[in-house]
Amino acid sequence: MDENEALVELLEEILGEHGLHYPNRGQISFNCPVCDDDRNKHNLEVNYIDNVYKCWSCGDSEGTHGPLGKLIEIHGNSKIKRAYLLLKPEEQTKTTENEKIILKLPREYKKFSDSNPRFIPHREALNYLHSRGITDEMIEKFQIGFASDGDYSTCVIIPSYDKDNHLNYFVARSWVKGRVKYKNPPVAKDKLFSGKTQLTSKRTYI
Ligand SMILES: [Zn+2]
Repeated sequence: MDENEALVELLEEILGEHGLHYPNRGQISFNCPVCDDDRNKHNLEVNYIDNVYKCWSCGDSEGTHGPLGKLIEIHGNSKIKRAYLLLKPEEQTKTTENEKIILKLPREYKKFSDSNPRFIPHREALNYLHSRGITDEMIEKFQIGFASDGDYSTCVIIPSYDKDNHLNYFVARSWVKGRVKYKNPPVAKDKLFSGKTQLTSKRTYI
């Protein structure tokens, strides 16, 4: 299970059931929210590896194309927008086969199921996730956890696993206002990301 499957679920909440889906290519089609009009044409294609979308029918005439974040911004409700930001920030890209490295979750990472629900950081982290549209079911499914001390203190931690169930990324976000809200795994970015990605220069606040 990885964040792409969560993303497909989010897209279905906005666009209804999907049509053709090629998970290896990250390609999936939906009915276009602008021009489909109940004709069930599945003209809107999303690529969630390249993070882009396009409607083959009205893309040029209506501007129905661009970065995936634009589609979410225009057609998602606030709950979906928050969940999207948390699960798939725009600056996040996938590792390619030959860029794979061993990545570990922070030592302080704790699953909610392994922690006392009366523990204050546990409650704060859970409230933060719930307020951003992340359900208990999603927390369980994506093994979302939190850290109450160390480098990732007061952060929720969202792991991402590849198809072989190896950790290939994680996102950490602080639930405390005023702290750096977004942290990256402690690995050289040139190993994890393609050259054009400028992940370390960007902070995401949600
Ligand atoms: Zn269209």
